[in-house]
Amino acid sequence: MSPIRLATVWLDGCSGCHMSLLDTDERLIGLAQHATVVWGPLVDAKEFPTDVDVTLIEGAISSEEDLHRIRLVRSRTRILVSLGDCAVTGNVPAMRNKFGPDAVLRRAYLDNATLDPQMPREIVPPLLPMVRPVHEAVPVDVFVPGCPPSADLIFSVLSDLLEGKAPNPAAKFG
Ligand code: SF4
Repeated sequence: MSPIRLATVWLDGCSGCHMSLLDTDERLIGLAQHATVVWGPLVDAKEFPTDVDVTLIEGAISSEEDLHRIRLVRSRTRILVSLGDCAVTGNVPAMRNKFGPDAVLRRAYLDNATLDPQMPREIVPPLLPMVRPVHEAVPVDVFVPGCPPSADLIFSVLSDLLEGKAPNPAAKFG
């Protein structure tokens, strides 16, 4: 059986879910025999590839760029996995929904700036009015909750996917 093409994407999250993936430690070596990582924070590629079998999504949809990226990723991925509470529910990034993007930007770049306060005019992509979980933007196939999900849970989900099984993360809690 040829290795599956695996991608990981980091949207509006803290990278803790990726850290938890790395916490699978030496088990990653076993996974690497059955999966080729074609995209992720450590992969030097310019464009999200086509024909991806499994993509793990960390983070919520907060900006226009996130929305554009998740739509592209969805169109090129067979099985999309929402990895962690930010992707599954909005979680920490969604705490800004109560205040709105303008107030948050003002607080970060004007009120709390100690040097040269100014609103960003480039690099920071336009924020969406509300932070939303991934499945409200595109269809999601597997939900893996947790902040972050444990390394054991991530390994279990990946193992199921590599074996062609439908993972059921909810059954592995408790
Ligand atoms: S779910 Fe938790 S660990 Fe994962 S990106 Fe969000 S805040 Fe970080």
